[in-house]
Amino acid sequence: MNGLMMNMPLLIKNIAHHAERLHGDREIVSITADGAKHRYTFKDSMMRARKVSTTLDNLGISKFGRVGTLAWNSYKHLELYYGVSCSERVLHTINPRLFEEQLVYIINHAADEVIFFEAMFSNLVSKLILQCPNVRYLVCLDKFDQNNGRHLDQAMDYEMLINDSEEGLWEDFSEETASGLCYTSGTTGNPKGVLYSHRSTVLHSYAVCLPDSAALSAVDSVLTVVPMFHVNAWGYPYAALMAGSKLVFPGHLLGDPKTLVDLIESEDITTAGGVPTVWHGLLSYLKQNKKKLDSLNRTVIGGSACPPSMIKEFREVHDVRVLHGWGMTEMSPIGLINQDKDKTKNLSGDAFLSQALKQGRPIPGVEIKIIDENGNDLPWNGIDVGNLLVRGPWVCRSYYEEDVEASFDNGWFDTGDIASVDTNGYVLITDRAKDIIKSGGEWISSIELENIANSHPDIEQSAVIGVHHPKWEERPILVAVRKKGAIKNLEKELLDWFQDKVAKWWIPDKVIFIEQLPLTATGKVSKLALRAKYSQANEIL
Ligand code: AMP
Repeated sequence: MNGLMMNMPLLIKNIAHHAERLHGDREIVSITADGAKHRYTFKDSMMRARKVSTTLDNLGISKFGRVGTLAWNSYKHLELYYGVSCSERVLHTINPRLFEEQLVYIINHAADEVIFFEAMFSNLVSKLILQCPNVRYLVCLDKFDQNNGRHLDQAMDYEMLINDSEEGLWEDFSEETASGLCYTSGTTGNPKGVLYSHRSTVLHSYAVCLPDSAALSAVDSVLTVVPMFHVNAWGYPYAALMAGSKLVFPGHLLGDPKTLVDLIESEDITTAGGVPTVWHGLLSYLKQNKKKLDSLNRTVIGGSACPPSMIKEFREVHDVRVLHGWGMTEMSPIGLINQDKDKTKNLSGDAFLSQALKQGRPIPGVEIKIIDENGNDLPWNGIDVGNLLVRGPWVCRSYYEEDVEASFDNGWFDTGDIASVDTNGYVLITDRAKDIIKSGGEWISSIELENIANSHPDIEQSAVIGVHHPKWEERPILVAVRKKGAIKNLEKELLDWFQDKVAKWWIPDKVIFIEQLPLTATGKVSKLALRAKYSQANEIL
C-alpha cells in the first residue's frame, strides 16, 4: 500500500521560491573583480536567475545542455547556479586551476555549449576555445576588454543579455533530472564527471542545514570560502537560501586572509567552511595583527585532515568551534561532520582534542561501512582500520559517460580512504589509500604523523610522504615549513618530539624543510608533487 502524501518533485527551484517568499530581503554580499563590494537581496538574485534561464532559451541552449562556468564566488555565479539548473540545463562548474589539457578534456567531455567566464580568465579562455569545438557561445560576466583575449571577439556581455531578457518561468520536471556536473581533480588518469540531480542537491541541502550537521539557520551569515567551482562550494549556495542565511562571497580573494577577516568583521559572519590551508593563512594573519574573531561561532573544516593544533587555536584564542567534516566530490560533498553526542559534549583538554580531530559521524542519509581487503565488514571499535565505503541519496552511483565501475560495488561506493570507526560512530580517516605508508608490511598513518608535527610550536605546516626504501619497502619522511624564528636544530628536536607519541618505527627517517608546501587545484597539500620531488629514497635516507 502506498502512502497518500503529495508527490512534489524535489527541485532546486523550490529552494529558490522558498528563499524569495520567506527571506526575500536577506542579503547576498560579494567582492567583485575590482575589489568593490556588491550587495543585493535573495529576491533580486532569483529575479536575475530567471533572466539567465531566458537568456539560455534565447541562445537556443538545448534541454539538458551543459553550461560551463569559469568563475569565482560571486552573486553572478549564484545566478547561474539557479538560472541554469532550474531551466532544465546542467551547470558545469569548471576549476580554472586545472592544467590546460585537463580543462580542454573536461569541456569537451561535458560537451559544454556555452561558457560564462570572468574577464580575468580571458587569456585562459582564448587558449581553450580553439580546442573546444562544441562551445557555441562565450559570455563574459564582467567588463570585457577585447584586448585581453584573442579569439574572443564573439564573447557576449552578461549584463546586456540579462537586461534584454524577460524573467522566465521555472516549470516542474522530474527530480531525477541532472542539475550540475563537477569533475574530480583526478590525480591519475582523466578527471571523472560527477552528475548531481535536483533530488540529490535538495536532499543534500536539507542535510547541510540539520543541527548535527553544518546547522545553517535564518540567523546565520555564511562566508563561502570553498570555491564555487569545487563541489558546489560544499552546497552552501543551496543550503543558505534554504535556511535564509545571509550569503557572503569573497570573489577571487577567497584565499586572501585579510579579505576574509575584513568580511567576517564587517558582515557579522557566524559560520564558514573551508580547507585547512586557507584557515592556516587566516590564523597566522590574525596572530600577526593581534585580532580576534568575535562574530564567528563555528567553522566547518574539511577537504583534508584538520590538524588538532588548528582546532585548539580556534577554540582557545577565538572561541570558535571547529566542526571537522569529511566528504568528496562524489558525495555532493558532505558525508561526515563532527558534532557532539551527549556523551562527548563535556570533554576537555586532550580528551576533547582526540575526539574533535575525528572527521565525524555520518549525517543522516549517509551510510558507511569499513571493510578489510577480502571485503569483510570490520567492527566499529575504533581499532580496526579498513577501506571506507559509503552509500546514500547524494552519493554518485556511476561517473558521467564513463565505464569505470571499479569504485561502485553492490550499491556501495569505495571512497579510496582508509578509516576506523569508533563505538559511537565517529570516523577517523587514517589516510587516502594511495598516501598510506607501508613500512615492513605494516601501515603508518601519514595524517597521524602530520598532526603530531603540526603541534610542535616551531612548525608552520607539514606533510608526511612515503618514499621507497630498499629494505622496508617504504619509509616516512616529513616535509615541513618552519615558523619564523624557529630554533636552529629543528630536525633533531622534531624527531625527538615524536619519541613518546608513536611507535619507534613510525618516526620519520628524515625531515626536509621547504618554504611552502605545494597545493593541488582544490587547495589541498599535493602529496603527489611532494612524492615526485622526494621519491629518490637512496639520495635522501
Ligand atoms: P575531493 O573530491 O577533491 O573533495 O576529495 C575528497 C577526498 O579528500 C576524500 O576522499 C579524502 O581523501 C579527502 N578528505 C576530505 N575531507 C577530509 C578530512 N576531513 N580529513 C582527511 N581527508 C579528507
